[in-house]
Amino acid sequence: MLKVDTEKCTGCGECEESCTFEAIFVKDGKAVVDQDACTMCGICVNGCPEGALELQVEEGLYATTDLSSWKGIWVIAECRGGILASVTLELLAKARELAGELEAEVTAVLMGRGIESKAQELIFHGADRVLVVDHQELATFTDEVYGNILADLAKRERPEIILAGATAMGRSYIPRVATILETGLTADCTGLDIRAEDKALLQTRPAFGGNLMATIVCPEHRPQMATVRPHVMKADIPDPGRKGEVIRIVPRENLLEHRVQVLKSVNEQTEGSNLGEADIIVTAGRGFEQKENVDLAKELAHLLGGAVGSTRAAVDAGWLSSRTQIGQTGVTVSPKLYIACGVSGAIQHIVGMQGSEIIVAINKDAEAPIFDVTTYGLVGDVKEILPLLTKRIQKERGL
Ligand SMILES: Cc1cc2nc3c(=O)[nH]c(=O)nc-3n(C[C@H](O)[C@H](O)[C@H](O)COP(=O)(O)OP(=O)(O)OC[C@H]3O[C@@H](n4cnc5c(N)ncnc54)[C@H](O)[C@@H]3O)c2cc1C
Repeated sequence: MLKVDTEKCTGCGECEESCTFEAIFVKDGKAVVDQDACTMCGICVNGCPEGALELQVEEGLYATTDLSSWKGIWVIAECRGGILASVTLELLAKARELAGELEAEVTAVLMGRGIESKAQELIFHGADRVLVVDHQELATFTDEVYGNILADLAKRERPEIILAGATAMGRSYIPRVATILETGLTADCTGLDIRAEDKALLQTRPAFGGNLMATIVCPEHRPQMATVRPHVMKADIPDPGRKGEVIRIVPRENLLEHRVQVLKSVNEQTEGSNLGEADIIVTAGRGFEQKENVDLAKELAHLLGGAVGSTRAAVDAGWLSSRTQIGQTGVTVSPKLYIACGVSGAIQHIVGMQGSEIIVAINKDAEAPIFDVTTYGLVGDVKEILPLLTKRIQKERGL
């Protein structure tokens, strides 16, 4: 709010003249503020010759003066259809690592309906505390309600860091939370670290079309907020012996108000929708030369019980759906086995698959950059090698 120091104010009227919103005027020789009309633009503050005006920002929003009062790391848990999203578990592992450097506590925030049983799982994966908001109004996801509740919790508890998945849901409402808290947000991070000298969160993400990695800090505001893509980080093995605190939160009624009504939710099962969970992925690139040849990749993937991925070039050629695209503008994957066929290894593709455990590439160009990241490389024509590979596996399995 805009405050007038009546000791200093001389009633000169400079403020009244400068305000285009007619929010400040002189009455009985002193400036008076109409707080409803005031937009907090600050023009009058800068123009006051006596220094009698001051903008006072609501407690809990800006933290420029006292960063140290914000403590702890929060991971925003995502639970749909009774299953915790893999990115939540990955973030808990990363949060534990960061918490070690900050000597901080890790809190998971779990919102939804009928989700309380998941709190223990979050503790086993690294949470010290779980804030559970289980409410009928959270049965279907809306930005407004989820965003309002999270922002309200953050204002009250003041976490230093908030991490969430860069999923459809996270991408939708986490920016809203950052806006309410008037802090920064780095979306789609691929790396998180703590800067040694001032303990700031270093948030790394691809920039300029993936051609360089930018590391971003949020030096003057709290919380420091970041979303992270699924499968970029690794989850820890759960420890059923871990102990933690489960705290139930009852949201205030006004936070549950929303203007959007969800009429129906439909689970879509389409080509590529299982990529994130697949242990084996066979990816087709432009090296297949024509659509019919992509069947060779599909056949191998089917035989191995895996999924088919694609490069953007294969998608642009109309060979596979955009949902199968792996990379910067597609999905990020980290399967146990990744077989890249006819893929050159452009950086925009590599960022989406470099976390795979074993990478095999088949390419007729021995100098192709994909070979820089592979565990095993086969130099040759995919149209010749893939049928041989498929036949050999069938033989080994007695098919
Ligand atoms: C902003 C931006 C975002 C992008 N996002 C993505 C993304 O998310 N995912 C993505 O994949 N790309 C993305 N791209 C595109 C990316 O830069 C590359 O153009 C793309 O990955 C190339 O696909 P490719 O490897 O299939 O094709 P190419 O680069 O054309 O490579 C084909 C490879 O196949 C080999 N080959 C040819 N014939 C055969 C054969 N018969 N047998 C064996 N090998 C053969 C060639 O030697 C070559 O190495 C993005 C680009 C930009 C600018």
